[in-house]
Amino acid sequence: MSAADNPSDPAARLAQLRRRLDHAAALAGRTGEVALLAVSKTQSAEAVRALAAAGQRAFGENYVQEAAAKRAELAGLGLEWHLIGHLQSNKCAIAASVFDWVQSVDRAKLVDALDAARDPQRGPLNVLIQVAIDDEPGKSGCRPEAVADLAARVVAAPRLRLRGLMAIPAPHPDVIRRRRAFAELRGLFDRMRFHHPGVDTLSMGMSEDFELAVAEGATLVRIGTALFGPRPKAAA
Ligand SMILES: *Cc1c(COP(=O)(O)O)cnc(C)c1O
Repeated sequence: MSAADNPSDPAARLAQLRRRLDHAAALAGRTGEVALLAVSKTQSAEAVRALAAAGQRAFGENYVQEAAAKRAELAGLGLEWHLIGHLQSNKCAIAASVFDWVQSVDRAKLVDALDAARDPQRGPLNVLIQVAIDDEPGKSGCRPEAVADLAARVVAAPRLRLRGLMAIPAPHPDVIRRRRAFAELRGLFDRMRFHHPGVDTLSMGMSEDFELAVAEGATLVRIGTALFGPRPKAAA
């Protein structure tokens, strides 16, 4: 990537990414329907502030503690915080207070713990069910067959609101195989929407493959590197 492809000014980077995203959406016949989550893990609160000043509202974080600190530092900017990293059940209480969305719900225990911990004054916590589409051992996400039961459990939880599905397909070098994973997710999402018509979010696609994900029906893409530049190595 040349310097011209990746301008150093956050507002210019955001505008460029938005153009690519709008172009991909238009090609898929879905102009304006794809939302952008800026993935700010390992980036400073100042970097988030700069992107917020350029108009970005929704930010994604992988670690509960790191997000809690940034949220506190940037309180008052009206930002929306999404947890996209693996969630341990002993972090559910803090996660339910720090985040507006938890995208990584992949087991019943998390549903129960988040519902118990959410302050009803704050309104429902938005939940995506994370599905492991490639069946890679040791990866987060429930099996596709488990989505329906988990979805029903979220719907029954009064302080949670089911919004859809999230997945991180393996970055397979073969574009056909990547595209197939996105298409399978879209199929699972359509099935979920049939049973739960309020569901509206299919979170898939990252810096390297978001155009492919949008072509297959993503409604929310999660972009880190293409917005902030490379992550500091140690914590990536
Ligand atoms: C880090 C991360 C991203 C962003 O990845 P980039 O390749 O930097 O765009 C998206 N989703 C999840 C779950 C992540 O952990």
